[in-house]
Amino acid sequence: MDPSAHLDDLAAFVTASPSSYHAAEEIARRLTEAGCQRLDERDDWAGAVVPGARLIVVRDGAVVALALPEDATSATPFRILGAHTDSPGFALKPEPSVPGAAWQQLGVEIYGGPILASWFDRELELAGRVVDRDGVVHLVRTGPVARIPHLAIHLDRDTNSGFTPDRQRDTAPIVGVAGDPADLLAALAGAAGLAAADIAGMDVLTVDSQPPRRFGLDGTLFASGRLDNLSSAHAGVVALEAARPAGVIAVLAAFDHEEIGSESRSGAAGPLLADVLERVSVALGGDRTAMHRSFADSWCLSADAGHAVHPNRGDRHDPVVRPVAGGGPLLKINANQRYTTDAVGTALWTRVCAVADVPWQPFVSNNAVPCGSTIGPITATRLGIRTLDVGTPLLSMHSARELCHVDDPGRLAAAAQTFLSGADRVA
Ligand SMILES: [Zn+2]
Repeated sequence: MDPSAHLDDLAAFVTASPSSYHAAEEIARRLTEAGCQRLDERDDWAGAVVPGARLIVVRDGAVVALALPEDATSATPFRILGAHTDSPGFALKPEPSVPGAAWQQLGVEIYGGPILASWFDRELELAGRVVDRDGVVHLVRTGPVARIPHLAIHLDRDTNSGFTPDRQRDTAPIVGVAGDPADLLAALAGAAGLAAADIAGMDVLTVDSQPPRRFGLDGTLFASGRLDNLSSAHAGVVALEAARPAGVIAVLAAFDHEEIGSESRSGAAGPLLADVLERVSVALGGDRTAMHRSFADSWCLSADAGHAVHPNRGDRHDPVVRPVAGGGPLLKINANQRYTTDAVGTALWTRVCAVADVPWQPFVSNNAVPCGSTIGPITATRLGIRTLDVGTPLLSMHSARELCHVDDPGRLAAAAQTFLSGADRVA
């Protein structure tokens, strides 16, 4: 796919994926159309996990999809593209409709680490899942209904000398004025084709409602919500669709809850990936020894958005290693294993990018600035599979609206396709 078409497809993917639950279903929809068979974890997979099969498992807001080569055995190594489906935002609290004297507001919790200021004065959508009284899950999205209002500068003359919103007092979005008969539950229920009384539970977050767009004097910049980390999840989907794995089993693992530490049933610290890989290995006729032999020859490419050098705050970056937007995907390095990349992983990435004909650039943090982390160290610790950390360089990570160069997402997808196909493997 050419870079421009890839970017248009990324914009469509982000737009279709306002929540982790939507992202998981959008990945499943795309891969099912591309020939993947959807498996239910409650079923026996014996007849489905066969050489040549393409399979997908959805668990809440997470997905594991696989493409098996025609000669797959229980000893065939895995090539795993790891990413996450969730992004920072605000989650609805129980009893979310808060009537006020003048305004109707929402009760929200802060999910993950959003740049709070960037979420003010935007028309926000509500999106996620509601569950009816029978336990049936319905995806919902409302369109723009909410806004967290800034205080006018006349009422806070100090706002430009340090905007520090109170996480409870200042973050409640408005959805209408007092006396407005509109009901939040009715709106969510209507979006699901239900009555308000049918809703028994909900996992719903705010998202920016502004669509992605290209901009810049030469059209090389791309602004969008949720590039962290839908830019990587989308690269994995596109790569898996196109991958023709040879000598490896290609896997896309897109987890939920990375932004809050990954410790959940559908997070990278949970059992999802290990469960699926073990079931595949067993269905291919292996025992635990065969599975661990396969793991010993496997790789995980942990793909998560990273940082391009900021134009105004270059002092927050390493003084020498200075990745740029448009320079290709990052290889993320941290001696303290906040990123997993080591010398062996660097050599693998060098081969992958040479075969894919993709430029790349190293990233390392300034020693005085705490380093972020990814699902990479978590999956490596859980499974013992060799892992490296890569990702698209962004500005404004965890803003409601992030930024990347138009060419970098497609390059990550091309490298991911080479990796998932095993085309870099040396005999
Ligand atoms: Zn991320």
